[in-house]
Amino acid sequence: MILVNENYLKLQDSYLFSTIAKKVAEFTEENPDKRIIKLGIGDVTLPIAKVVGEAINKATEEMLHKETFRGYGPEQGYDFLREKIVEFDYKKRGINIEIDEVFVSDGAKCDTGNIGELFSKDNVVAITDPVYPVYLDTNIMAGRTGNYNKEQDKYEKIVYIPATSENNFIPELPKEKVDMIYLCFPNNPTGTVLTKDELAKWVKYAKENKAIILFDSAYEAFIREDNVPHSIYEIDGAKEVAIEFRSFSKTAGFTGVRCAYTVVPKELVAYTKNNEEVSLNRLWNRRQCTKFNGVPYITQRAAEAVYSEEGQKEIRKNIDYYMENAKLIREGLTEAGYTVYGGKNAPYIWLKVPKGYTSWEFFDYLLEKANVVGTPGVGFGPSGEGYFRLTAFGSKENTIEAIKRIKKM
Ligand code: PLP
Repeated sequence: MILVNENYLKLQDSYLFSTIAKKVAEFTEENPDKRIIKLGIGDVTLPIAKVVGEAINKATEEMLHKETFRGYGPEQGYDFLREKIVEFDYKKRGINIEIDEVFVSDGAKCDTGNIGELFSKDNVVAITDPVYPVYLDTNIMAGRTGNYNKEQDKYEKIVYIPATSENNFIPELPKEKVDMIYLCFPNNPTGTVLTKDELAKWVKYAKENKAIILFDSAYEAFIREDNVPHSIYEIDGAKEVAIEFRSFSKTAGFTGVRCAYTVVPKELVAYTKNNEEVSLNRLWNRRQCTKFNGVPYITQRAAEAVYSEEGQKEIRKNIDYYMENAKLIREGLTEAGYTVYGGKNAPYIWLKVPKGYTSWEFFDYLLEKANVVGTPGVGFGPSGEGYFRLTAFGSKENTIEAIKRIKKM
């Protein structure tokens, strides 16, 4: 008899985006004349850079000829791309990452999800709350949680670390001993960041407790302020305790092209029950070689072009465009009397919903009164209740119009 992985049955239906879609569809049907503005989804809207498109065309042309055709590539990624990553994303910031510590992949979503395979089911997992839901859900699937507690909207055995306005969105170090720590900064959904000193506290904790930090810096390119680390490896000693995930998705409009990478330093170890050290770089390499056949050559040439002078100029322009939207939302909402967070180093604005509303009630109110769609904070974790996420990924025109409508509510 085929038995199912019952851990999957513990997963709560991810009703967040499907419920939003359903509510929007119902509203549209009842109000066909109303133009809805969507500032809810975290997908980019500007096209890829011209030079990236040209690289795709050139690589496609190469695939058409016997002399230049490419079949399976290295599972870890082509050196031409890994060299650029090492040079531009690390060396230029004074960080020494070696080429064989970089693993190119088709997305930070898969990597942050798959990385858990390297770790025992017995590890205690800590996540900041609210956060990108993939970390929690993949640990549920892996069996590292107990059951779901509906009353608390929490899973047993998971250590939730609140990041709310009460602690200025700076999560406190866990009181108990944890083994796997997921950190995402700049944060999705709150758009907030940690300073170097704050991040250094986590590195110290991980060292002292022989824990690992899984650091997702998918939004690194949006950082504007000094003293906000772009990479966890800016912190001394982090190479001994952290894996870093990066993505071209938001940085260069690759949500549909699909390219990302993960850095697994060679210093990094996990332990057997007998306290023997095991290299995680070696394990991740083994995992990728066994289960992954590499990112398409064409895609990797596209990612390489992001690092060209022209590519850098174009992606900066797009990021500036989104950050201008973020500023418009921040300032507009503040003028309208809302308390807002984030949006300075990230494309997300996190606002406190007015007193008396839950996240979902505010969603309905905003849809009804302003015909604007956002994302209820509670969808990202129990500490997201009472908050609401707007994204800066829309068009400037729509962003201005949305703020105008919200001000009139
Ligand atoms: N990590 C975070 C924090 C994200 O918000 C997202 C996408 O929204 C991802 C990772 C996914 O990245 P990718 O498109 O590379 O899979």
